[in-house]
Amino acid sequence: MERTLSLIKPDAVSRNLTGAINSRFEQAGLRIIAQKRLRLTTSQAEKFYEIHRERAFYGSFCEYMSSGPIVAQVLGGENAVLRNRELMGATNPANAEIGTIRRDFGESIEHNAVHGSDSLENAAVEIGFFFSELEIIE
Ligand code: ATP
Ligand code: MG
Repeated sequence: MERTLSLIKPDAVSRNLTGAINSRFEQAGLRIIAQKRLRLTTSQAEKFYEIHRERAFYGSFCEYMSSGPIVAQVLGGENAVLRNRELMGATNPANAEIGTIRRDFGESIEHNAVHGSDSLENAAVEIGFFFSELEIIE
């Protein structure tokens, strides 16, 4: 049983796609074991995405991530980290496989509907950014 952090990004939340995206996770056998809706400040987004601070898109991307509500969630299940990355598809929706969340719901490489942790180690750090252990119910 692994845990991974998932974010439904402002573009998808504003288009009312939370339920449609959540059903992709559930149909694939992942469980939503914690979930909350919140809005990041720009400085909180900059902290969460600190690893990307040298990249050209960092400024505009952090502005976008704080432009409206997001849904943060912990997904649990077998191989949850990799399984979620497969469900999400490639970063750029135009390159993502048909049937993936980003291909079906993403608008652009920046407005690509979802975030998912890329390793078990990063998942633990990212889950701790949004949730306390008390909020995660398996
Ligand atoms: P995520 O970390 O959100 O799960 P990822 O691991 O597929 O996505 P990263 O390379 O970690 O992609 O980039 C983080 C996020 O930054 C992407 O999801 C995307 O929203 C945004 N991003 C990546 N590349 C670009 C770009 N060239 N222009 C604008 N935004 C970008
Ligand atoms: Mg990433």
